[in-house]
Parts: sequence; C-alpha cells; structure tokens
Amino acid sequence: MTKAIVVVDMLNDFVKKEYEDGQNGLVKGKLVVEGVEGIVNNIRKMRNVAGLYAGVSMVYANDAHAKEDPEFIGYGGNWPEHCVKGTTGAEVVPDLMPFAADVVLEKQTLFMFSNPDADAVLRQKGVDELYITGVATEYCVRAAALDAIARGYKVNVVVDAIAGVDEIVLADGTSVPETKGAVARALMEMGNAGARPVYTARVLEEIVR
Ligand SMILES: [Zn+2]
Repeated sequence: MTKAIVVVDMLNDFVKKEYEDGQNGLVKGKLVVEGVEGIVNNIRKMRNVAGLYAGVSMVYANDAHAKEDPEFIGYGGNWPEHCVKGTTGAEVVPDLMPFAADVVLEKQTLFMFSNPDADAVLRQKGVDELYITGVATEYCVRAAALDAIARGYKVNVVVDAIAGVDEIVLADGTSVPETKGAVARALMEMGNAGARPVYTARVLEEIVR
C-alpha cells in the first residue's frame, strides 16, 4: 500500500486571523475556522516525516477561486469571498508550505476530486490509502473523505489534525439551524462510510513502516 497525507485547505484565509498581504499590509483571514491554529503543528509533524521518507506522498487540496466565483455571495453561492486564486489568502500557510515534490491540487468547489487530475495523479503514484487532515471537517474534509471512499481508497481521518466550523452565526446574530451539530454529523457520516479515525501519533508510526 502506498500512503498519502492529504492536507485540505490549510490556506491563509481559512487559518490566519491576520496575515501579511504585500502592499495591503496586515489583513484578516476571510473565513477562519475556529481552533484551526491548534492542528497546524500536527500536520507539520506528518509533513516533515513524509518529506524524509520517500514512501509517503504529500497531497495538498487547495481552494483557488475566481474573483466572481459561483461559490461566493452575489454570484450564486453562500460563502463570502475567500481564497481567490493568486492572492496571499489562497496560499498554504507558511508553516505547511509544500515541498517541490508534493502534489498540489487546486479546486473550485468543496470537492477535492472535482479537480480532474486528482484521481489520476494519486493512481499514478500508486496511492491507495489516504490520511486526511485540514479544514473544514464538515465541508471539504468530509467531501474528500466520502469521495475517496467511493473511489475505492482506504481512508483515515486524522482526528487531531482536522477542525470544523459547526454552527454558523450570521451578522444579525441568527444562526443557520442546519449547521448546528454539523461536525458531529460529518464525523459519524465518514465513520459509517468506512473512514478510520486515527491520531497523529499513530500516523507518524504507520507512515514509516
Ligand atoms: Zn471555497
């Protein structure tokens, strides 16, 4: 079995409350996932081991939206503008910057496999087992896990290397009811579909075997 660590959307707009954006100076991350800072170090540990050990691939699945993307409010979608391709907000956070040999897959939807190259690139590397990390648990992490299972990959979800949004509270203080408990539901759904929950410490042992 060839394994890959999948890093989903660990991009400045999702991770950094504030980041340096060239001429714009210090700007705020546009869709920061609460608690995401806490998983950066775990992903970094896995990334570093994978970098030292040629048998493990690193795969980054990154939002890369058009300026007027159908996912955005005003263009048919529900999300505020985020991760516009070519901006600092769409870059992987500095602590997890991909190495030259890593696979970087851009996506315009929640689904990593919406990138037409995703499956072929993984198969070409002989990858049949994925360890999924990143954000957000009930959106792109869930989508990557369920899609990968449907495509026949063995899927592990690294539970201390993912973070979710859960209840969305709008600017007027009202909450979006269907988002309440969404993380728990997503975890259950992934588990029921066949994803195996695993902790970072265990992954570090498994990937060098
Ligand atoms: Zn997006």
